[in-house]
Amino acid sequence: MANAAAALVATARLLLDGALDLLYPPRCLVCGDFGPLYLCAACVSEFEAVQSPICLRCGAEAEPRAGPEERVARLCPWCLAGRAFAFVAARGAHAYTGVVRAAIHRLKYDRRRRLAEPLALTMLSTLSRVPFAGRDFVLVPVPLHPSKLRLRGFNQAELLAGTLAEQTGMPLELHAVRRVRATEPQALLKGRHRFANVEDAFEGVPGALAGMDILLIDDVVTTLATANACSRALLKAGAQSIHVLALARGGRGLPGDAAARPQE
Ligand SMILES: [Zn+2]
Ligand SMILES: [Zn+2]
Repeated sequence: MANAAAALVATARLLLDGALDLLYPPRCLVCGDFGPLYLCAACVSEFEAVQSPICLRCGAEAEPRAGPEERVARLCPWCLAGRAFAFVAARGAHAYTGVVRAAIHRLKYDRRRRLAEPLALTMLSTLSRVPFAGRDFVLVPVPLHPSKLRLRGFNQAELLAGTLAEQTGMPLELHAVRRVRATEPQALLKGRHRFANVEDAFEGVPGALAGMDILLIDDVVTTLATANACSRALLKAGAQSIHVLALARGGRGLPGDAAARPQE
C-alpha cells in the first residue's frame, strides 16, 4: 500500500514537471540559471575528471597509495594485488564530487529525468578515450529492482544508456538481466558488506546475450560491487565480456572507502 501511494506520488510529480515545463522557459536543473539547456555549460565545465593515473582495471585514482612501480603498471594497489572482478575494466566519466554529484542527486532523488540526456552526452568523450574505445558493444544499463523502479518512476542508468545508444548507434538491451532481489541501499554499507549485499541480486536471461561484448552502464560506481554482481549474472547467461562505464566514479575503489557514498 505504501509502495502504491509512493508510485502515485512519483507519477504525479512527473506530470507536474511536464506541466511546469509548458509554463516556464527551460532552465538549468542544477544551478537554476535560465537558458536553452536543462544542464548549462557552466555547470558541465565544473565537472571534475578522475585524477590520473587512472587504474586500468577499476577506473579509480591509482594514487596516492601506489608506489613508483604501480604507477608504471597503471593499476591501483588493490587491482595490483589481484582483486578479482567479473568485468574486464571499469571507468567513470567524472569524479563523483561537486557539481556532477549535485546533478546526479537532482536526477535521482528530485526525479529530474530531463537531466539524463545532457548528462549522458558528457559521457561520450570518455567513451571515445577509454582503453576499450572503438569496440562494438551491446549497451546494458544496470537494472533497478521493480519495487525501486515503481518508486522512482524511471531507471536513471537506462536513460543514460538510451542516449548513449542513440548517439553511438550501439544496440541497447533492456531485457537481458533483471534485478531479482531488493537490496539494502549500498550507501548504508561499507566496502565488503556491499559485495555481500548485492551477491545474487541479478539474474541474466540465458542466451539473450550469448557471445556478445557488453558495455554495462550505471550512474555511479564506487566499490563496483553492484557492477560486479551484474557482470557475473551476464557472464553466467552467456555474454562474452563485460566492460563498465559510469557517469561518475566515487572513492578510490578501496574496500571500505567511505570518501564518497553514493546511494543507489
Ligand atoms: Zn547550471
Ligand atoms: Zn584498480
